[in-house]
Amino acid sequence: MAGGTQDASGVILKPMDFGLKDRAALVAAASRGLGRAVAMGLAREGASLALCARTAGPLEETAAEIRAATGVRVLTKALDVTRAGATAEFVHEAHRTFGRLDICVANAGGPPSKAFASTSEDEWQSAVELNLLSTVRLAHETLPLMQQQRWGRFLAITSVAVKQPLTGLVLSNAVRSAVVGLVKTLANEYGPHGITVNNLCPGYTATHRLTELAASIARNEGITLDQVVARWTSQIPAGRLGDPAEFADAAVFLASERAAYITGQSIVIDGGFARGL
Ligand code: NAP
Repeated sequence: MAGGTQDASGVILKPMDFGLKDRAALVAAASRGLGRAVAMGLAREGASLALCARTAGPLEETAAEIRAATGVRVLTKALDVTRAGATAEFVHEAHRTFGRLDICVANAGGPPSKAFASTSEDEWQSAVELNLLSTVRLAHETLPLMQQQRWGRFLAITSVAVKQPLTGLVLSNAVRSAVVGLVKTLANEYGPHGITVNNLCPGYTATHRLTELAASIARNEGITLDQVVARWTSQIPAGRLGDPAEFADAAVFLASERAAYITGQSIVIDGGFARGL
């Protein structure tokens, strides 16, 4: 049977060709968690990678693991995505290295967990730098390169908070919603150039960031980490936290040739947590 196998019920299972083999992708904030999982997912489909994070050691370890598992080329740079100059230089270094840049995954750490009354002007400025302006800058640098190629995929990692604001996370709830406005506008402006722009909204997914968030809630409320996680999972129809690899599967699809007609969307990967229609 050409290009497929048959399962026990006689259904023909054909592999979906994502068309990522000769593509080059930049994944920001990729030494661990969601960024790392997306990088591994793209590498498994054959894309070359440019990865950054602030701390060199874990970034190099991740790059080595991806090279060993997939054999793709991986360029790394230790940098803070809130630094405009360093981010721009990295984009252009990636473009020079691979001779192209097809995919950009904008990602960063998250702002601290706070109620509105306890937030300061400085914390608002930092959250805007970290989660909005870092995305703006990556878009500024990468979209013209994709435009020259007449093909591109820009993905912003935000949060399910853009669909259902999360208690105690006002900085995230407010600033990430601005990214949704940015994404929708970029989708309109760059659609005619063969570029799609989408927003990926993770729900509660088992990463370092989530463990830190659980620890902070447990400390503040005098409860255990397990109790925090149990409270979260009780609100998730799937009944469990997400796996970063499940998030990565959605990202890989949206970055692929197969998702050419999906743009300007906020795709939620949350096990059903967000309750809106
Ligand atoms: P994570 O496991 O803590 O990983 C964060 C990654 O980002 C690390 O590689 C970190 O490396 C890098 N990073 C952090 N700040 C950076 C900066 N300023 N410049 C460059 N790299 C930076 O977090 P995650 O769970 O993957 O979260 C990724 C994003 O998704 C965050 O914005 C988070 O708030 C959001 N999110 C996560 C969840 C979830 O359940 N996991 C849910 C909703 C939203 P260095 O520390 O070395 O820089």
